[in-house]
Amino acid sequence: MKVLVTVKRAINPETKVKLVGDKLDLSGAEYVLNYFDEYAVEEAIRLRDGGKADEVIVVSVGSDEAQKELRTALAVGADRAILVKVDDDDELDTLGVAKILAAIVEKEQPGLVLMGKLSVDSENNQVGQMLGALTGMPQGTFAHSLALDGDWAVVGREVDGGTADVRIKLPAIVTADLRLNEPRYANLPGIMKAKKKQLDVIDPDDLDIELEAKVTTLGYERPPERKAGVTVPDVDSLIAKLRNEAKVI
Ligand SMILES: Cc1cc2nc3c(=O)[nH]c(=O)nc-3n(C[C@H](O)[C@H](O)[C@H](O)COP(=O)(O)OP(=O)(O)OC[C@H]3O[C@@H](n4cnc5c(N)ncnc54)[C@H](O)[C@@H]3O)c2cc1C
Repeated sequence: MKVLVTVKRAINPETKVKLVGDKLDLSGAEYVLNYFDEYAVEEAIRLRDGGKADEVIVVSVGSDEAQKELRTALAVGADRAILVKVDDDDELDTLGVAKILAAIVEKEQPGLVLMGKLSVDSENNQVGQMLGALTGMPQGTFAHSLALDGDWAVVGREVDGGTADVRIKLPAIVTADLRLNEPRYANLPGIMKAKKKQLDVIDPDDLDIELEAKVTTLGYERPPERKAGVTVPDVDSLIAKLRNEAKVI
């Protein structure tokens, strides 16, 4: 069984983002392999090394620079990589990314697609769900545990008040959450081997999909400054403030 893992080149959340008017100034921004995708890559490698899968393929939609993040995933142990190359100034919305990934799923026919639950920069938390809708594959999101049992996957999810297991028929999509595993770091032999591993670059025009963005970003602004907190002498004053000023009770 092939496992396809989607990895995004994301802006490092520690980056101090600069605003120029209502535009983001990303010059000097640092990029990382999206943290939640690290859990997805790790889980795929464990399934392969545990004999539940034959091949781990990582795919990214992004500019040429995204090859760096794909090489990182190859260095920790993925077998093969695909970059669907789009230019940074291309207008690409969530549906566009999902459509491109759906075309790669059609091409590669994986038994399982592993993805992060969300990307740490734009946090849309939509691509996994949209990919499920486009491919008709069942999905288990926010996985903190995953067990494959024949043609089925049992996904443990953290829900309000505890955990819930969902059993879905393969081929399926699983989005990774924290605590699914402990992602490994690349070691030197892995980094050296990754240089020789196959990385195919695909032009989205060859995928025969319509990519016109339906969502465009109009502009960015900083959230309002948080007002300083106040100290209250006792509980009664707190309740009075919550009732009369904040009007939340
Ligand atoms: C080249 C480029 C141009 C863009 N242009 C615009 C623009 O003009 N306007 C705008 O508003 N937004 C733009 N974006 C941002 C893009 O719209 C969002 O990345 C997209 O909507 C997905 O949202 P998200 O990253 O929050 O995904 P989420 O739904 O939070 O991601 C969930 C999971 O989906 C997978 N995933 C997400 N993105 C990718 C990817 N690129 N490759 C592989 N896997 C992925 C990852 O596994 C991730 O963990 C652009 C992105 C790219 C790469």
